Amino acid sequence: MKQKTIAILGATGSIGTQALDLVRRYPDRFSAACLTANSSSEKLFALVREFRPQAAGMVCEPEAIPEDLRFCQWFFGPDCSVEVLKAVKPDAALCAITGIAGLDAVWTALDVCSQVLLANKEALVTGGDLVMEKARRLNKPLLPVDSEHSAIFQCLQAAQGNPVRSLLLTASGGALRDWPKEKIDSARVEDVLRHPTWSMGRKITVDCASMVNKGLEIIEAHHLFHMPAEQIQVVVHPQSIIHSMVEFEDGAVLAQLGNPDMRGPIGYAMAYPQRLPYEAKRLSFAEIANLSFAAPDLTRFPALGYAIEALKAGGAMPIVLNGANEEAVAAFLDGRIPFGRIPEILRDALDRVPQRSVSSIADVYQTDADARACALEFIRRNS
Ligand code: NAD
Ligand code: MG
Repeated sequence: MKQKTIAILGATGSIGTQALDLVRRYPDRFSAACLTANSSSEKLFALVREFRPQAAGMVCEPEAIPEDLRFCQWFFGPDCSVEVLKAVKPDAALCAITGIAGLDAVWTALDVCSQVLLANKEALVTGGDLVMEKARRLNKPLLPVDSEHSAIFQCLQAAQGNPVRSLLLTASGGALRDWPKEKIDSARVEDVLRHPTWSMGRKITVDCASMVNKGLEIIEAHHLFHMPAEQIQVVVHPQSIIHSMVEFEDGAVLAQLGNPDMRGPIGYAMAYPQRLPYEAKRLSFAEIANLSFAAPDLTRFPALGYAIEALKAGGAMPIVLNGANEEAVAAFLDGRIPFGRIPEILRDALDRVPQRSVSSIADVYQTDADARACALEFIRRNS
């Protein structure tokens, strides 16, 4: 079997380190050809020492590169992920950077790699139309890593060309799922970061608690599977055993199940179309005993409704939602705003940033900058 060379962009993060765990377990199948990270130099140095990539990059340049790590090419600055891809041209890129900061890397990966493994949902939320058009034009597969989208992708293989009635995205409900509205508004950082079923990066964990994450995932699903907002539903499912479902026209609903372990969907994308003989904890229905479901509560979690509204409005609005949310989450994690202000910031940005058509990546960045400025102004005015 030919070894697949993979760039792991965002290598020190939650997705990046789990992908590297699979590279470690399957050295005959995969090699980590490029590794990049934002600022955690000691972590990245340790990974470079272990995986010996051809190129590595860091957004924040460290004071020095250790003598024994000079065997690989190094790149620094915000374009480091784009530069490693161009220098090495690996078979695949795992795009696991958080936020719109990862959009350029996805864009370049489509040019230089034969497969793009996409965890970075914000790249599709902001650049979705352009990215999908480019993927189609170049005939490059964009393989979903997000667990819900991986589940849908797997279920869709049974479609055999038949139309789909709806996609059902499951949601754990996040750390505040059962909290009353007043308590949600003043939830502390440590409450919000206590996710019930998944261990993930801080930004996505906050997004789960506000349910913005599910909103971003509806937009991601719209792009990946060409489905209108009206045909994508959210089902709250606290156990995170059903990763998502597809409903067909005869009423049949197909689901993909598994224990909550991101190495499942990451490995599925890495090995696609094969499946890894991964020794995951097997599903025991007797142990699980019960699976439960509920409709999402848009009164307690209004941001989910705003994301659906942004998708329906189209154009600049999903970019506005994402940019305002990135600023709001950073402000919450820094202690500058209470949790309850996050949906207010999104509402204000959607109301105040003008709608416009988005026909280039430059338009995406301009809209993002306008949304961030609007959010920062709202935060200043209300603190
Ligand atoms: P994380 O914060 O744990 O990791 C982010 C990684 O990206 C880190 O290695 C960081 O150093 C790096 N990084 C940040 N900015 C960068 C830049 N400009 N250039 C290069 N590297 C940069 O985040 P995560 O939880 O691993 O999530 C990554 C992406 O995957 C997000 O878009 C998230 O929504 C998505 N995702 C994550 C999970 C999960 O289980 N963690 C599940 C589904 C989707
Ligand atoms: Mg998900």
